[in-house]
Amino acid sequence: MKVLAVDIGGTALKIAETTHEGIIISSYEEPTEAKKGGTYIIDKVCRLIKGYKGYDCIGISTAGQVDSRAGTIIFANANIPDYTGMKVKAIISECFGVPVAVENDVNAAALGEAFYGAGKNEKDFLCLTYGTGIGGAIVIDRRIYKGHGGLAGEFGHILLHPEGKNCGCGQKGCYEQYASVTALVSEAKRIDSEYNNGRIIFEQLHKGNMDIKKVVDAWIDEVMIGLASLTHIFNPKCFILGGGVLEEEYIVKQINRKFSCYIMPSYRGVIIEKAKLGNKAGVLGATYIACQELKGSC
Ligand SMILES: [Zn+2]
Repeated sequence: MKVLAVDIGGTALKIAETTHEGIIISSYEEPTEAKKGGTYIIDKVCRLIKGYKGYDCIGISTAGQVDSRAGTIIFANANIPDYTGMKVKAIISECFGVPVAVENDVNAAALGEAFYGAGKNEKDFLCLTYGTGIGGAIVIDRRIYKGHGGLAGEFGHILLHPEGKNCGCGQKGCYEQYASVTALVSEAKRIDSEYNNGRIIFEQLHKGNMDIKKVVDAWIDEVMIGLASLTHIFNPKCFILGGGVLEEEYIVKQINRKFSCYIMPSYRGVIIEKAKLGNKAGVLGATYIACQELKGSC
């Protein structure tokens, strides 16, 4: 079975021809140009899809909150203007006449990891992605748990520091204000304004910069505080942590070394590992949902 998998991220738009076994036959990427808005992006997706033939279904992983049953965008923030309310599934399936499935990008990445990556042998796990913010997904019995309104898993907005830093969601003290890569960078910049991205920060760490080590270790503590809360809520067997910064071995090593200090003894033994698929997780998650949609439509 051949799938066309599209991953609409805030920065990059990826399109890949894949198989139901998760093999990527070809892939292409160009800037999303998100600021130009939802209509522009969907027009661009349609233009790109027209360049392909011989696929059985289309899967779309996209930024924004998604009603995956209807295939619409429930809400997208100002990073993608005019995307809220977009009927992505209806537009694409009408244009191309094949089954189309749409999912939020973090959920899609979790499904990619669940079926083709780090979660391949796990039934239940939690996925967290650390970047500009923090995304989350809950996988129970190899399905995404969506919650009443389809929005479960917004781990970035669990409140951990009441009266703390303002968050874009309108609250104060959300997890992502302390444990996202954005938060790490803003703390590092207090030492030197040149420490303005994760790569430079970890270069400094490896060079033995003790000021940066303090900042990184304090940030890892914040990461662990969130994971500890989630451990006590879900009692998961496994966490899969994603985001470019997790490529740094130091982070997962430190978490595995210190995590037991943050949780009750009876919860110990939780496995913490890195996502395996990197930036392919989105298109492989899109592949999985497209195959499910195709099965459902037969
Ligand atoms: Zn928030």
